[in-house]
This record gives sequence, structure tokens and C-alpha cells, in this order.
Amino acid sequence: MTMLVDCHSHTTYSDGASTLEEMVSAAEACGCEVFCTTDHLTMPEELDPGSEVGVAEVDLPKLAADFALAREAHPGIELVRGFECDWYEGCEENTLRWSQGATFLLCGVHKVDLRDIDWAEDMGIWEELGPDELWRRYADTWCRACESSLPFGSMAHPDLPRRFENEGYAPTIDLAPIFTQMATCAHDTGRRIEVSTAGLRKSVRGYYPCPQLLAEFFRAEVPITVGSDAHHAMDACWGIRDAYAYAHATGYRTMDVPRGDDSWSTVEL
Ligand SMILES: [Zn+2]
Ligand SMILES: [Zn+2]
Repeated sequence: MTMLVDCHSHTTYSDGASTLEEMVSAAEACGCEVFCTTDHLTMPEELDPGSEVGVAEVDLPKLAADFALAREAHPGIELVRGFECDWYEGCEENTLRWSQGATFLLCGVHKVDLRDIDWAEDMGIWEELGPDELWRRYADTWCRACESSLPFGSMAHPDLPRRFENEGYAPTIDLAPIFTQMATCAHDTGRRIEVSTAGLRKSVRGYYPCPQLLAEFFRAEVPITVGSDAHHAMDACWGIRDAYAYAHATGYRTMDVPRGDDSWSTVEL
């Protein structure tokens, strides 16, 4: 059986509801073999006032120490120290400084024109741009993130603008050209993309990426990682084996796995 791997999780250090210890214990109880902690990386104050989403800069050393303790306390599970890093114009220097010591940088494009696109409490940018224009700008932003000099190990939830498509914000344009643009860009920049189960727990009711986009990535030979994006311990490893089956049905026969020693493995699905 394919090893159980979860490459995306959050704790109380960022916007998660469970502690690092609770998250790791829950993953271990699921039989998880490789588990990545990917709290939202610290952001500039103007992008994340009061560190509401990202890890407060002052807490970075404590997170590193807690991670080391969790490794000692849980020798039965391979822990990978990562961050989910927002991409925004000029983020490169900040990201390298704040993520020091982490070995897995997961890129999350949550902002278009520096404004959040997945925050239900502020739908301002959706109202202003409308879904069609938001999708176009998102794809351009996403491609610029792929082109970044940062060593992103994977691109999280690639079609995140689907987040509100069942809540009145579905695009009217054909997304096929946008999907081709994204797949071509991921291929040309040598990126991996994440198959995420998070959308299944939201109104999207489907995987990120959707079947059409995942098929484009497959055609473009873009490798995958798999993650739950758990924000609660009970969601650690949520739906991961079903996600393997989903990727397999699309044509994928392997996934890539970041390892605790900073290497990568390619594992049969
Ligand atoms: Zn994210
Ligand atoms: Zn996340």
C-alpha cells in the first residue's frame, strides 16, 4: 500500500485550531508516515495586520523549537518542517529570511493585487473585479509565483478561485485557456502542484485542482504532492488515500514526497 503522506497542515502558530503536538499526534494515529507542518509564513504587517494569519515573527524561534521537540517525541513519524508561503510582489527576501531552517516551502497564492481571494469575511475584490477578471489576474499572479526565484517545493491548491464558485462567484468564461496557461507555466518553471482535499470540506465540494486542471497538469508532466490543508487535528491526513485514487484515475502513477532530511522521494501511487 502507498505510504500515507500529508504535505499540508496548519497549527495554532498560524491560523490552525490545534497545537503542533495535537496535529502530529493525530497524524501519527492515522498511520501517517511523512507529515509536513506548513504554517502560513510570516508576512509584512500591511499584508497580515497583527499576524492574524501568518506566524508572528517573534514566534518563529519557538515554532522551530517546538518542531524539534515534536521530532524527538514522535520518532515513529517522519516530520518535515515547512511553511506555506504567500507569493506577493517582492516577497523573495522576506520569505528566505523568515523561513530559514525550513526544508519545504509550499507556495500559496491567496492574494490578487495584494488582496485576499479566499477570505469569506471580505469579498471586496470579488465584488470589484467579478469572477472572470479575478480568474485572469489570479492565473497571471500564479504564473509569476511559479517564476519566482524561491525554491518552492509545490504549488498549493492551484485553482483556489473555485473556493466560492458555489456561493455565487462562478466564472462565466471558459477556463480551459487559463488552465493550459497554468500547466504550461508549471512545466516550464519545473514546479510541482498540490492535490488538496481541502475543497471537499468546503462548499467547493471537490479537489483542488479540479479534474480538468489536473488533467492539464498531467499532460504537461507536472509532478504532484498531496495534502489535506488540515487546520484541525481531526483533519490531519483527511481524504489522502482518496486523493491518491483521484490522481491515479487522472493518469498519475507517482507522487513526490518531501522528506525529513531535505531530500525528495518519488513514490508509486
Ligand atoms: Zn493556502
Ligand atoms: Zn494551507
